[in-house]
Amino acid sequence: MFRNTLPALAAAVALILPTLAGAAPPAGPPFTLKEIGPGIYAAIDGPEGRAGSNAGFIIGETGVVVIDAFFTPDAARALLAEIRRLTPLPVRYVVNTHYHADHTGGDAVFREAGAVIIAHRNVRGWVRRDNINLLGGAAITPAFRAQVEALAQPDVGLTGDTTLWLGERRVEVRYVRGHTGGDLVVAAPDAHVLFCGDMLWRRVSPNVVDGTVSDWIASVAGFAAAPDAAATRFVPGHGEVADLNDVKDFGAYLQLLSKETAAARATGATGDALVAVVLPKMKAAYGGWEAFDYFAPKEIGFMAAELAGTKRRPVPQP
Ligand SMILES: [Zn+2]
Repeated sequence: MFRNTLPALAAAVALILPTLAGAAPPAGPPFTLKEIGPGIYAAIDGPEGRAGSNAGFIIGETGVVVIDAFFTPDAARALLAEIRRLTPLPVRYVVNTHYHADHTGGDAVFREAGAVIIAHRNVRGWVRRDNINLLGGAAITPAFRAQVEALAQPDVGLTGDTTLWLGERRVEVRYVRGHTGGDLVVAAPDAHVLFCGDMLWRRVSPNVVDGTVSDWIASVAGFAAAPDAAATRFVPGHGEVADLNDVKDFGAYLQLLSKETAAARATGATGDALVAVVLPKMKAAYGGWEAFDYFAPKEIGFMAAELAGTKRRPVPQP
């Protein structure tokens, strides 16, 4: 979250409340479904960003696991309709990769369909309160605030890894560090698929508002070092389905952000002057990435705060 379509609160409100914005919902699902393994699908957000993020699902012998639920209930309903087209099996779980509303906004649709919502333990405390800040804080409209404060809360809170069994199909849910302080990734080891949520962005500049880049770099290096990494299809939170080269590319982006920000700090630069030093170096390598002009200056500020020890992050929940 949030891409070129969503920097402005008005745009976010238009997406989550299309009727208030006066726009008729366009025909067809707001995502493209891609089969990336046997019974495993990535749902990739369309160019208009109407789904808000990527999602996906894994069909096993006894049911379906959904990974992330998009920004809007409409997009989640469209995903449920696609699942229904492919299998009569129940959606047993929805795993939220993190609390951001572009990945949790449609959770209630799957709960109504009978699914148990699984997330990191912190998400239950963050999904209503911290999404208010993420989406505009005091500037948020009362109607939009009411929607965020009614977001579904997870049923299961993990503090580590767990395994879900869909009959013989094994789905690994892993706790990883870097993007928010409450991040999960979901692996289907039999098919070499890893759903990364916003731990991975493919050719899209990332949102590091809640991030810890030093941890994030280590986690991404871990994805790239897995024994089956070269054969793995990685589903990012934003951007197209990724391969090992894309994962390494994203790790290099975070490393450059960290390295150049540290170098600028060492010269005594701060604030806008620091951003002015680092931004051209980032732009030379990654200026073609989607949302770069919007996110990169913010990333540099957040990176400087992390290095200074003053970075604000969501508070871990008891
Ligand atoms: Zn996102």
